[in-house]
Amino acid sequence: MTASAYQDIKTSLSELYLSDERPWLVGFSGGKDSTMLASLIFDAVLSVPPEKRKKPISVLCTDTRVEIPAIVEMVEGTLDKMRKCSQQHNLNIDANLLKPTIEESFWVNIIGRGYPPPNRVFRWCTQRMKIDPVSVFVQQRLGHWGEAILHLGARRAESSTRAQTMAGRETRNGLHRHPDLPRVWVSNPIEFLTTEDVWAYLLQKPNPWGGDNRALYKLYASASNGECPIQIDTSTPSCGNSRFGCWTCTVVDRDKASEGLLASGDERMEKLIEFRETLLFYRDPANGKRDNRRVNGNEGPGPLIISARRELLKRLLALQEEVGLQLISPEELLLIQQMWKAARDPDDGRGVARIVNKQRGVIMSTDLNELNRLREMEEEVAREKGIDVETLRRMLAKVEEYSESHRAHGLPDDLLNILKDDLENQTVGAKK
Ligand code: SF4
Repeated sequence: MTASAYQDIKTSLSELYLSDERPWLVGFSGGKDSTMLASLIFDAVLSVPPEKRKKPISVLCTDTRVEIPAIVEMVEGTLDKMRKCSQQHNLNIDANLLKPTIEESFWVNIIGRGYPPPNRVFRWCTQRMKIDPVSVFVQQRLGHWGEAILHLGARRAESSTRAQTMAGRETRNGLHRHPDLPRVWVSNPIEFLTTEDVWAYLLQKPNPWGGDNRALYKLYASASNGECPIQIDTSTPSCGNSRFGCWTCTVVDRDKASEGLLASGDERMEKLIEFRETLLFYRDPANGKRDNRRVNGNEGPGPLIISARRELLKRLLALQEEVGLQLISPEELLLIQQMWKAARDPDDGRGVARIVNKQRGVIMSTDLNELNRLREMEEEVAREKGIDVETLRRMLAKVEEYSESHRAHGLPDDLLNILKDDLENQTVGAKK
């Protein structure tokens, strides 16, 4: 592909940028295709005169809370650079790392509810951990915006199925309707590029936000599969067999991404890979870890039995200490405790605390008083400040997200956006 062909894509993007006021969303997974997409978009906006850079653009990236550590570190670094670049050049681009709610986290579903680790038939994870956080974000923003354009890095050359699906869509001015979000129009600027075109671009051109893509190329070098695209609907192929999936992924037969990272010296992956094998063992009904009744009471492999959930929690906490990474949060532990009380064979409501205390030698609250107290305080503050309690919780979660990554850049804008959502909801409520 020639340099002018890449320039043509940027030119169409800047024309589209100036053609109307619809805000843009950009799907970003940290993989090669979406990195190229984001790079083209940044360049397109940079080519627009500064006084015309008014369009709000949100880069959306999901973190399932069980992402491969090296990938999370790289993605967080990139989002941070994007924010700085946007601020430096007044691009009006915000970069968002979206996570599933605690209620829908991988561990709460497996260890709390007893869901079997996912497989191709029962792939419960993608909707809850990847699609829902994006849909919630988009719906909230659409409240202010009315319509939006979502740019994705999908390419026809990825697979023949992908090519067929993309060819069969009805488009208007190069955009097609999102299957589930009626006011969202989807654009695929790199639709016709080959994998070689993508790498040629990424390796020759530094990113507009700084840095090159050699580290990204190295990540791909040890495994040859494609990236896990940002999931926007259930027709998107499984993240399985991907470079950028969860380290816990039991949908794939082999986790080549984790294996590749281990081979290239990331020793944390050794124990994580072993734990994935443990999850596969627990999923197999032949190993006695599953109830022999389904949730609806019919015969057949059901949820993980409570003793199996306890064993998994013990092993997970031991793993957490071994690798020195936080793999499960205190909020998830509290919720799991609550769920065990409602399980088919319930415990006394102190099972999680006993395991945690034994494992770590620390005292964890044996009931939910602590959590309830926190919730009451939040409600009181929300009442005093005249904002919705959910809005306050979102703001606190946002602050926590930033403090986890030891940065504050972009936080005021994000908090402001949450407050705008609150105002919008109040206005909609008042109109009704
Ligand atoms: S990477 Fe695997 S576990 Fe994670 S959401 Fe995708 S299919 Fe589910």
